[in-house]
Amino acid sequence: MTDGVDALVHELENVLGDDAVITTPAATAAYLRERRGLFKGRCRAVVRPADTRAVSETVRRCAAAGVAIVPQGGNTGLCGGAAPDASGDQIVLSLERLRRIRAIDPLGHTLVAEAGCTLADVQAAAAGADRLFPLDYAAAGECCIGGNLATNAGGMNVLRYGNARELVLGLEVVLADGRVWNGLRALRKDNSGYDLKDLFVGSEGTLGIITAAVLRLHPRPRHRATALVALDTPSAALGLLAELRALTGDSLTAFELMGRTPVEFSLRHGAGCSDPFPQPWPWYVLLDVTSSRRHDDLRGMLEGTLPELPSLARDYRITDEDAGRDTLWALRNSIPAAQRHEGASIKHDVSVPLPAIPDFLARADAAARQRLPGIRPCAFGHVGDGNIHFNLSQPPQMAREDFLDRWDEFNRLIHDIVATLDGSFAAEHGVGQLKPAEVARLKSAEEVALMRAIKGALDPQGTLNPGKVVPAGDTGGHDRH
Ligand code: FAD
Repeated sequence: MTDGVDALVHELENVLGDDAVITTPAATAAYLRERRGLFKGRCRAVVRPADTRAVSETVRRCAAAGVAIVPQGGNTGLCGGAAPDASGDQIVLSLERLRRIRAIDPLGHTLVAEAGCTLADVQAAAAGADRLFPLDYAAAGECCIGGNLATNAGGMNVLRYGNARELVLGLEVVLADGRVWNGLRALRKDNSGYDLKDLFVGSEGTLGIITAAVLRLHPRPRHRATALVALDTPSAALGLLAELRALTGDSLTAFELMGRTPVEFSLRHGAGCSDPFPQPWPWYVLLDVTSSRRHDDLRGMLEGTLPELPSLARDYRITDEDAGRDTLWALRNSIPAAQRHEGASIKHDVSVPLPAIPDFLARADAAARQRLPGIRPCAFGHVGDGNIHFNLSQPPQMAREDFLDRWDEFNRLIHDIVATLDGSFAAEHGVGQLKPAEVARLKSAEEVALMRAIKGALDPQGTLNPGKVVPAGDTGGHDRH
């Protein structure tokens, strides 16, 4: 394989130009840095085509040489999907140079962006046309729209606007043999056959390479109010969610749950974080309401509502000013980084049906503490759409590596609870190379067989991001019957 890959790399340098192909270890290192440090990959080269034609050319030549491609956007994914394997024979295909906003249509509420535009680029382009692209979360300045679509990213505003899948109307995709599928249609209604774009959204680079997308825009909010609410239980959070949805309709945009443990982590390590109430509470909800109407008093609405719900909202703070909002959101946005200061953590990005959230949290918390005394469950997440990040921080005195050695054991423990509640073991971060074994273990035999059939049909040579998402071999897929 080595000679063949070397010949391919020379060929790509000739066709695409030297500056499009990176081969020195010092320069490729940045593309190999996997965020959680779980996967140590190597690659023969990082290829950075500048347009769709060059992506197509790269893929066609890799397919002819039988060389595997690992697509990469902003490399912020949390499941190792953008990391090559350890063989050193794979090519990382970075979309970072495809960074043009090709078109914007304020009347049709659409925008055409190339895959390497950062999420922040897209948000800014939409705002420039007095529109909103509502996908949003802490990595917006780094992650790319192609990666967002390839992982079907979620984030803070899914409750109101849906995840990435619901924000895309059309795609341009380079197929496994290098052909280009131009599906850049800006249509809300198109039942003219199978919805092919939905195959590629969430496929994490295993079925095709997204080079551009028609994105759906929304009216830009004119008013926004934020509240941080103290609660006794997760059940109270669901009660509050029901009350606010009934009252505000679709104005409720974000609804984030945080346990006291992650809030304490933010208080200890986060910049600009302070304890919001005179006393600590077991649970908190951070919520945003927004409105595009010209005249709306969202702050007044929250000030009128929360005092009427004393058994749910034990205490609260409300703001409609940017600075106040940033202070409240700092508590939430600081959690992932703050958790790193507390030692190693074993992560679970899960979802369950909304009514099952209290049961899930109680069972998962009890099971983890029983299995390892001193472990610190750190639960937070986008609870309005059923997504909990149930992270486990190590007992303070335990050796980091000893704790991380138990990753699979804890994943199995927590994912089994999720399965009994008809939930998902991969809510928004995807599968990557972290969870294919769980796909095999927890999905039905029929579902795994369908996934393999689709992979085989679109990538018969298996050169697109091998080892990701689809479990290898004939393992797995349990028989539910
Ligand atoms: P990458 O990491 O580069 O790639 C991710 C996967 O997509 C890989 O399998 C890769 O091969 C594939 N891929 C990338 N580009 C393409 C393409 N053009 N065509 C085909 N395949 C491609 N995620 C959420 O959903 N919600 C959150 O709230 C959230 N918060 C985060 C907060 C932080 C601080 C960080 C670091 C990450 C967070 N993430 C979150 C995870 C991550 O940002 C998303 O998964 C994101 O969508 C990945 O985009 P990317 O461009 O970085 O993709």
